[in-house]
Amino acid sequence: KLILALETSCDETSAAVVAGGRTILANIISSQVPTHQKFGGVVPEIASRKHIENVIPVVDQALAEAGTILADIEAIGVTCGPGLVGALLVGVATAKALAFALNKPLIGVNHLEGHIFANFLAHRDLEPPFVALVVSGGHTSLVYLKDYNDLVLLGQTRDDAAGEAFDKIARVMNFPYPGGPHIDNAAKQGNPAAIPFPRAFAVQEGENKFAFSFSGLKSAVLNYLNNAAQRGEPVSIPDVAASFQAAVVDVLVMKTLAAAQHTGVEQLVLAGGVAANSSLKATLASQAGEQGLKLFYPPPVLCTDNAAMIACRAYYQHLAGDYADLNLNAIPSLKFGRIGCGQQ
Ligand code: ATP
Ligand code: MG
Ligand code: FE
Repeated sequence: KLILALETSCDETSAAVVAGGRTILANIISSQVPTHQKFGGVVPEIASRKHIENVIPVVDQALAEAGTILADIEAIGVTCGPGLVGALLVGVATAKALAFALNKPLIGVNHLEGHIFANFLAHRDLEPPFVALVVSGGHTSLVYLKDYNDLVLLGQTRDDAAGEAFDKIARVMNFPYPGGPHIDNAAKQGNPAAIPFPRAFAVQEGENKFAFSFSGLKSAVLNYLNNAAQRGEPVSIPDVAASFQAAVVDVLVMKTLAAAQHTGVEQLVLAGGVAANSSLKATLASQAGEQGLKLFYPPPVLCTDNAAMIACRAYYQHLAGDYADLNLNAIPSLKFGRIGCGQQ
């Protein structure tokens, strides 16, 4: 069973061919990072235009690398949300055209569910149930995946996403976009206890038990840097990076472990770009291990945006007969647990 999938939700144009849900035959990722870097972030109109230029070439490349042809593809998967509307539309329109021309089933995929499913590609024996911490550029959510097509959102951020906080703080520290990996590196030379930045919603009970907030932390770091600059005091960039990162990781780890206890699962999964963070992986691995929980995370290339994870998600929707029709639309703020964008 070959699935061809497209991913164009943000600034990566990607096409993949995946066999049997879990075997990557090709995963072509054309990154626009160099294009957007000079603006310090993604410019939506430029992203859409680049997707239009790149989408057919990446599909051709994926088919060639997989050694297959369109006629042998069983179904077409595509990210239909969440993401930038103009960027999503390029993938959705392309996938619809392919599905129509080839008379193959079309599957609308939730990008965040795709991030979680990257773990099934990386860990062939992994099966539900588990709790997933989705930490990406635009989202921070705890999800209880009871079964492949049964996802329950436990909680999410009330303001900024974890990756967004990394990128914004990196920007004021003059690191290039995206800043997450640069903070991760700088933090390795710093003292995580140097500056006591706030841990928001560090509560065990109540409505914020599984909720996150990172905007206060972001302001605290910006104030710290501005105050030091005004007083003409030197700052240790590694110490700021390490102390900021520790504040993020502490809360993420605490809440993920609480979610495991709440649901009774024995497995934890990291997903999204921030799942590539070395401190998050190491801290969660050690604390999960102490509690007898198994932790899974994808390799960095499958943490950030790619179409293989979308193909994997589409495969399990395919098994469930969850198809979209040609009315499939881009849904910029698509929520969890509503599989198939056609079924909104
Ligand atoms: P979303 O998935 O919410 O729509 P997105 O697709 O833009 O957002 P991803 O591609 O999943 O986000 O992840 C990109 C984010 O991951 C960026 O914010 C980037 O800084 C962050 N990131 C990547 N590597 C690391 C790292 N090692 N440490 C911290 N953050 C990282
Ligand atoms: Mg990206
Ligand atoms: Fe993403």
